[in-house]
Amino acid sequence: MLNKFFGKFSKDLGIDLGTANTLVYTPDKGIVINEPSVVAVNTRTEEILAVGEEAKKMLGKTPAHIQVIKPLIDGVISDFEVTEKMLKYFIDKAHSEQFTLVPRPKVVIGIPLDITEVEKKAVEDAAKSAGAREVHLIEETMAAAIGARLPVIDATATMIVDIGGGTTEIAVISLGGAVNWKNLRLAGNFLNHDIIQYLREEFNLLIGEQLAEEIKIRIGSATPLKESLEMTVRGRDLMNGLPKELRVTDGQVREAISRSIHQITDNIKLILETTPPELVADIYEYGIILTGGGALLRGLDQEIAQATKIPVRVADDPLTCVVRGTGILLSDPGLLERVIVPSTKEL
Ligand code: ADP
Ligand code: MG
Repeated sequence: MLNKFFGKFSKDLGIDLGTANTLVYTPDKGIVINEPSVVAVNTRTEEILAVGEEAKKMLGKTPAHIQVIKPLIDGVISDFEVTEKMLKYFIDKAHSEQFTLVPRPKVVIGIPLDITEVEKKAVEDAAKSAGAREVHLIEETMAAAIGARLPVIDATATMIVDIGGGTTEIAVISLGGAVNWKNLRLAGNFLNHDIIQYLREEFNLLIGEQLAEEIKIRIGSATPLKESLEMTVRGRDLMNGLPKELRVTDGQVREAISRSIHQITDNIKLILETTPPELVADIYEYGIILTGGGALLRGLDQEIAQATKIPVRVADDPLTCVVRGTGILLSDPGLLERVIVPSTKEL
């Protein structure tokens, strides 16, 4: 009864709680939050100093009593308390963007495919204690497919490869569910580490994670480029501890990340090999759809197409597919009903 009353005034939210970025969608305004999943904490007082963009700026620059935490590092909640506080901060911020009488929203939230019951409950609890009235969990790949406007409830198979910061999720979807899937703990962050390791081994140059990510985004690619790219990189010379500058080329970055890229393509092939042939024929029709920030790596679509012999397409605005999918589900309860992950209480 009370829920019914509050429901009338509530502002529902769709949330993509990603390892790299958290996005929040409201039916009225679309995407209202799009910030890094990062929190800065004062370890003396346990006080939250900054969340999102502001906290990310502090990475690698903090004094001893400030810790910058990425609470979802492996695609699941590795630090429950901090995740909860981060969610609460984002939910409050989403609501302060608009006038609400009773901000007790229904929340649709994306979760990884191989999440355990305990982890599922952790996400639910975090959203509830952050103020959500009803929490509906949905597989991220399903949300991504819906955000990419694929026909997820039809009797035709589609394949989504969602490459985020911590995980690459590969899923074959048909009739409203994942038919075959794999969650790889190898994605964008791993590529950054490949670049760090390569520069250390080849040039004795030490760089930080942020710079590695910048190199990947500015000059990284999975296949050779028509026009080569270069950038100047500054780090520490491991031989003498002094600053050192270096020109880095797209070819070097490609070499650095090639093993990881192969691992991704090998796993996509593995999923295709273990998917029934009729479904593979459907996938061929639609092509493999890439979502997540990792989909933006130059030439990754070509590389996967070459390896699998199946056409590959990068979804429009791949970084926002999951959250836009949760938004579509907020306004389509029938569809939500068909694709929802059972709540932990129902099991
Ligand atoms: P998550 O869902 O885990 O939060 P996202 O889908 O937000 O992840 O993607 C974040 C990842 O995408 C990061 O590893 C980031 O470095 C990577 N990324 C973002 N833009 C690009 C780009 N243009 N080229 C390659 N990688 C990118
Ligand atoms: Mg994601």
